[in-house]
Amino acid sequence: MAKILFMVVPCYNEQEVITETTNRLAQKYKELIEAGKIAPESKVLYVNDGSKDNTWKMIKDIHNKDKTFRGLCLSRNRGHQNAVLAGLMQAKEEADMVISMDADLQDDINAIDEMVDKFNEGYDVVYGVRDKRKTDTFFKRFTAQAYYKLLLKMGVDIVYNHADFRLMSKRVLDNLEDYKEVNLFLRGLVPMVGFPSTSVYYERHERFAGESKYPLKKMLHFAFDGITSLSIKPIRLITTLGLIIFMLSIGILIYSVVMHILGNTFAGWSSIMVSVWALGGLQILSIGIIGEYIGKIYLETKSRPRFIIQEYLNDN
Ligand code: UDP
Ligand code: MG
Repeated sequence: MAKILFMVVPCYNEQEVITETTNRLAQKYKELIEAGKIAPESKVLYVNDGSKDNTWKMIKDIHNKDKTFRGLCLSRNRGHQNAVLAGLMQAKEEADMVISMDADLQDDINAIDEMVDKFNEGYDVVYGVRDKRKTDTFFKRFTAQAYYKLLLKMGVDIVYNHADFRLMSKRVLDNLEDYKEVNLFLRGLVPMVGFPSTSVYYERHERFAGESKYPLKKMLHFAFDGITSLSIKPIRLITTLGLIIFMLSIGILIYSVVMHILGNTFAGWSSIMVSVWALGGLQILSIGIIGEYIGKIYLETKSRPRFIIQEYLNDN
């Protein structure tokens, strides 16, 4: 028997694209249901992440016209990752498999067929991987690639060129629920959950309309979160650095004692200035990085809710 698919689509000020996205998904669902690949009870769940435009009103209208489309309204803007999580946790109550996808049609809707096929073959996680990045600017492509490599070096297990377009089975989501962290970085968490996984490849398009809700500032913040939420390598690096500098300073101590005994000392103003600045800088850097982790511990210990649902449109 065909399994129930839920799509989770986070929406933040997406009034320009949501109609088109709805039309295309409705068409896709029709095909998939006719082909017997997914159950007729399959749904699309729009998660309104505190939009300030007409997005939520439009979602309500869509839901009233076609019950395949449901809406989940968060109490305020919580960011893409939290919005996706809210949708996933809601969807898994009824779904056998859930696909998360952006609202802006950058991800290829036609890849859904293949994802569902892989699920039916027995995979629990199917990552959508972009095989080209030609629609991205050179800057975005370059920084994204450097970032993936950095993450791998830091020991974070992620899938190269994969964003948040992926299929997950119910049991993956049930286990994902147990990862209680507040600093969410889903593409780092999903591989940690495990279970059989595979990838499908697709070409990433331009945003259909509207503009990116991920300005550079948010992107940098997200990138930094990715490292500090999942890896403690930066702390280890600092420790190693501290150890090396400590060894060096012992050498310098011995050297200066020897020089003193030999009577070769002279006013070393410049070397002192250099070392004061170098060490000062290093210490501040270390404190900053450690502070980042303490900040995270602080947030985690509060274990605040990661999202609050205001309304759920789920008439059948
Ligand atoms: N989004 C969200 N909350 C936010 C920012 C973005 O739910 O605070 C959604 C947005 O509506 C879209 C997806 O996350 O469906 C990805 O955002 P966007 O396309 O703007 O990012 P980009 O593709 O430029 O990285
Ligand atoms: Mg986008």
